[in-house]
Amino acid sequence: MTHGSPDPSEAPTLVHTSEAPTLVGPPPDDSGPPPDQRRLPDREGTPVIEVADLRKTYHMGETVVSALRGIALKVWTGEMVMVMGPSGSGKSTFMNVVGCLDRPTSGSYKLDGVEVSSMPTNQLADLRNLKIGFIFQGFNLLQRTDALGNVILPMIYAGVPANERRDRGMAALEAVGLASRARHRPNELSGGQQQRVAIARALVNAPSLILADEPTGNLDSRTSVEVMAILQRLNAEGATIVLVTHEPDIAAHGTRNVVFRDGHVILDRIVDEPLLAEKELASWTTSEEW
Ligand code: ADP
Repeated sequence: MTHGSPDPSEAPTLVHTSEAPTLVGPPPDDSGPPPDQRRLPDREGTPVIEVADLRKTYHMGETVVSALRGIALKVWTGEMVMVMGPSGSGKSTFMNVVGCLDRPTSGSYKLDGVEVSSMPTNQLADLRNLKIGFIFQGFNLLQRTDALGNVILPMIYAGVPANERRDRGMAALEAVGLASRARHRPNELSGGQQQRVAIARALVNAPSLILADEPTGNLDSRTSVEVMAILQRLNAEGATIVLVTHEPDIAAHGTRNVVFRDGHVILDRIVDEPLLAEKELASWTTSEEW
């Protein structure tokens, strides 16, 4: 173990505080709604994500890299968890395991109460398609099909009947304010619009969990806040979101911040007053279309 690393068997205690730790930047301003108007996640029952002593080791020739060194974490329905940490701290490895794209070397991962860490590959793929929506930094849209075609794709994999796909696809585009762009291809859309199509694609199968990997990494500040406004609205409607970001301003929009370092979770805190993206947008002076 690296000198000074925390004991991998001990997860940090979940703390309630309105003070941001130095690791995640300055505390959010006081623009959030009063606590009594915020719907706090139900921390009882079955967590959406429950990992215990999760470890992932990579072997590269003679070298062994311990990317995850005993992660313990529970995420409940309705949380918006912002994952932070320096490069190489294990964030992507964690997201790959939680997203059922990779298996841990050891430890337990329960998704909606079902142990998935040792599930066969084809079963894992089915579960992933059914339960998880992905949003990526680079949008990852098919360039040769239009917005609706991209949004429909996960439903084809999930075996949704053809006559249902169009309606559900349009409803998802509606939910991100892009119904009028359904027939536009990605290269006819702005970066923010492309990310909104990707969000519609992520939510079209009504997943238990939305995983977002630096979703604002390719967007300018205003567009980033606009994307955060959509994610916050989906979260307020009950979506569970886990989002990786290296930007403290983006992390301040979550209901919870989790910080990784050297394959450990070194900090886990509830954000008492998340920044409200809608309010930030309202305070912007210009309102050009994006
Ligand atoms: P982060 O996303 O926080 O930058 P990663 O999860 O990508 O961190 O990486 C954690 C550690 O695991 C790093 O030391 C990285 O070099 C190593 N690592 C990640 N993926 C692989 C891989 N496929 N093969 C070997 N080492 C890897």
